[in-house]
Amino acid sequence: MLRFTNIFTSKLPADPFNINIPRQVQSAAFSLVRPKGMTNPKLIIFSDEIAENLGLSKDFCETQHFVEIMSGNKLADGSNPYAMAYAGHQFGNWAGQLGDGRAINLGELSVKSGIQTLQLKGAGPTPYSRTADGLAVLRSSVREFLCSEAMFHLGVPTTRALSLALTGEEVLRDMLYNGNAQYEKGAVVCRVAPSFIRFGSFEFFAWRQDTENLKKLADFTMEHYFSHLDGHEQKYLKFFEEVATKTCEMIIHWQRVGFVHGVMNTDNMSIHGLTIDYGPYGWMDNYDPDWTPNTTDLPGKRYRFGNQPVIAQWNLLKLANALYPIILDENALKDIIENFQTTYKNGHLSMMMQKLGLKASQPTDEALISELSKTMKDTQSDMTIFFRLLSDINSKMTPVEAFGVISKSLYSDLNDEEPKIVWHRWFLKYLDRLKDETISNEERKIDMDKVNPKYVLRNYIAQIAIEAADKGDYGVTHELYQLLKNPYDEQPQYQHWFEKRPDWAIKKVGCSMLSCSS
Ligand code: AMP
Ligand code: MG
Repeated sequence: MLRFTNIFTSKLPADPFNINIPRQVQSAAFSLVRPKGMTNPKLIIFSDEIAENLGLSKDFCETQHFVEIMSGNKLADGSNPYAMAYAGHQFGNWAGQLGDGRAINLGELSVKSGIQTLQLKGAGPTPYSRTADGLAVLRSSVREFLCSEAMFHLGVPTTRALSLALTGEEVLRDMLYNGNAQYEKGAVVCRVAPSFIRFGSFEFFAWRQDTENLKKLADFTMEHYFSHLDGHEQKYLKFFEEVATKTCEMIIHWQRVGFVHGVMNTDNMSIHGLTIDYGPYGWMDNYDPDWTPNTTDLPGKRYRFGNQPVIAQWNLLKLANALYPIILDENALKDIIENFQTTYKNGHLSMMMQKLGLKASQPTDEALISELSKTMKDTQSDMTIFFRLLSDINSKMTPVEAFGVISKSLYSDLNDEEPKIVWHRWFLKYLDRLKDETISNEERKIDMDKVNPKYVLRNYIAQIAIEAADKGDYGVTHELYQLLKNPYDEQPQYQHWFEKRPDWAIKKVGCSMLSCSS
């Protein structure tokens, strides 16, 4: 059964106004708000693992009562829903107050894994909705549900999803922002994370020069989520350092699996180092560090794959500025931000070595890796398929044989000589390097297959699930949910999902390009 505690609302300052109209909120960490209520909610899928983590039985999750709670129609015991206040930098510019415009927290649960906050995304407007409707469409909700669960199983730190429900209502969206608004099915995802506190939560109070509440939020965060730092001489600084470390680890994982977040604004950065706010994200098909999946990001490609570490560091700088009034040690903050670069560089190198199946590093490894990146880009190699096939290569092969193993990962024309030439050149070096490895080819394959997933939620794959779901067929959504629970396993029955992006997906909206409209 669900029984909420109200840690956030009982310990932090509340917005004194209880009317649900868009406004600027002062001196408050949240506003109490009720979900608007949906006409005809229907459960599409729930995560059996998250249910179990939260102590909810399968039977309970299949009741109408459950879906009424997960669509905001009914309140569970102890629930006193609230929307969180935050601000942030969007696309490099200060954006002022943002806040949960379409997220409503039901409350916190105290479970074996610690505190877990349940949040409905798309359950109706809040004081932070500005001019928008507080709702979410089925397409983006399927993407959020499947991707957050898939990321967890890939070993990438992420918020989770408990449920995905249709609301029975329609939502008007201009998907391409070109004046062609259309009605789409509405949906609500229940997201789960220890907390949904963001970099922007701290920026909100710093911007208002409200140091008292800034400190309250920091103390709250530390008491409940960083209690091991309690009593530390410079606890706020330590807290910042841990956020930087966790953020760095998260980004290295993104680069490992080929995930591009698409909207790394400071309001979309979790202080737990979790991937949060699945919007116009994308997965690398043909490897290209300059690729961004977000149409809004096209002019500067700020959030392109290769720029994610730089942006993470930039966002940390903004968090450092926000925390400065309670840390007051500019040099120490600067050091942490500067260290990010080295930590990232080292972490990225050892991650890439693992992807290549190399153990003890050699001075030439960095060059081998950067030449690989260029070769993959130039020959349009599918990132997931390439790395997965790479573990089938053994040190006794010739470069021609090795190329034969990975050739089916290329989008470029196999009749062309150029891709063969550049790959032969790279394989000469790689095969030579493998000869220095002490472990057997079989052992190396086992290690490599643990870091190079076979299955990821490619954009075209999500699109197939969405188009079926839109017609009321949730079979693909369920199949992908099961498949992506074991992304590193061969799962021969799902081999059809281990395919390059088909041609129809190259230009299709939702596959090659996504908008923020969701
Ligand atoms: P995002 O870039 O999607 O994380 O959203 C940026 C801001 O816009 C956040 O404050 C969101 O809560 C808000 N927002 C996005 N979509 C909606 C919507 N449909 N209704 C209300 N607020 C929204
Ligand atoms: Mg957001």
